Formats: sequence, structure tokens, C-alpha cells
Amino acid sequence: MLKMMIGFFKDLWTYRHQVKKQTKWMEKYINQKQYALNPSWMMSTNLKIWLSEMDATFGKRFCPCFEPSSDADLNKKMLCPCEFIEDEIAEYGTCHCALFGKKDLSKEGWKASSKRLMSEYKIPLNLSNGILDTRGKPRDSRRNLPVPDAMHQLKATLNHYPGDTLKLIVENEQEVKNLEKIAIFRGFGFEQGKSQDYYEVTLKLR
Ligand code: SF4
Repeated sequence: MLKMMIGFFKDLWTYRHQVKKQTKWMEKYINQKQYALNPSWMMSTNLKIWLSEMDATFGKRFCPCFEPSSDADLNKKMLCPCEFIEDEIAEYGTCHCALFGKKDLSKEGWKASSKRLMSEYKIPLNLSNGILDTRGKPRDSRRNLPVPDAMHQLKATLNHYPGDTLKLIVENEQEVKNLEKIAIFRGFGFEQGKSQDYYEVTLKLR
């Protein structure tokens, strides 16, 4: 918990200017649309940090819950605020990431949606002997993208992984490209390979 809090405040300091900018457009947006922002400061600030990190890593304000896909049209739809927001607010009371929601959503409604989101990312990792197999995760019905995707599985692994080198097995070339961008952004060594039915990425973490 302490490690998580230290990480949060470190990231908040790094992205403090970007977080301010995100807050400005979000406040304008929710006023226009009559939505609300997640009332949990920690949750909404984390999402603003992750949005800023997506922008810094991939060059665009992609949804913090999904890595970019190989489909250019879908990628446009995934820029925040995404094209799925109304539909998801109608279903859950909030957008997929529980950043925006109905103006009159109760505290319990926000909590339930945040819990739904967390549970999607708590799927056990297939990590063994320094190899993280990211394939075969459930898919989001609107975007047809895995949840959690390779990028989020990598992030979850880095929270506790003690090794210097991590190998990832991924399903497609786009995930390799995304991992390369993440490696560049985070200063990791990067190597890629291909087997008959999957792609391999080796990250040198230290
Ligand atoms: S799900 Fe929410 S946070 Fe993600 S892009 Fe859509 S509006 Fe933004």
C-alpha cells in the first residue's frame, strides 16, 4: 500500500502540468454534457495521470484502459472522451474507466462501477519463470479488445516483479509495437521475435 501511495504521488508530480490541463477540458466537458467526474479524488487523479501517460507514450490521448489497436477507426473512437461513453453510461452509470458518469449517480453507483473496473483488471497473470503470457484474456464487447490487455498486464507485473529481464508472449504485431513504445518511454531494452503462432518481446528492465 505504502509503495503504491509513493508511486502515485511520484507520478502526480511528474504529470502535474498535464493533470491540470486534463482537469480543464474535463470540467468544460462535464458541464456541456451534464455528466460528473468520479468523486473519488484518488481515482479521478489516477485516471488523469494514466491519460497523460498514454499521451506521452503513444502521442494521443487514448483511453487509459485500452492500448491502441491496429484499427485506425477504432483508435479514433478510443480518444478520450471516447465514442462509447453514452452507451456505457446508460449501462453502468459511468464510462468503462469510471472517469465520467451520470450527474446524479449515487456514491454507491460510483463505487460499484469502480469495483467493476477493478475486477476486470484483477484477472490472474500467467507469469512463470520470467515469462508473461498475455494471450487469451476476455474481450470488451464494444471494442473487441482484451481486458486486461498486454500493456496493463505488463504494468501489473512491474508492480512486483523482481527480475532484470521479462519476456512477454503476445498475440499480434500491434501489441509488439505498443510494447516497443512503452520500452522507449520507460527506458527499457527491447527485443522482439516471432514463433509460428505468437510474438515474443524481451524487455531489459534494469
Ligand atoms: S472509457 Fe472513459 S476514460 Fe476511457 S476514453 Fe472513454 S470516456 Fe475516456
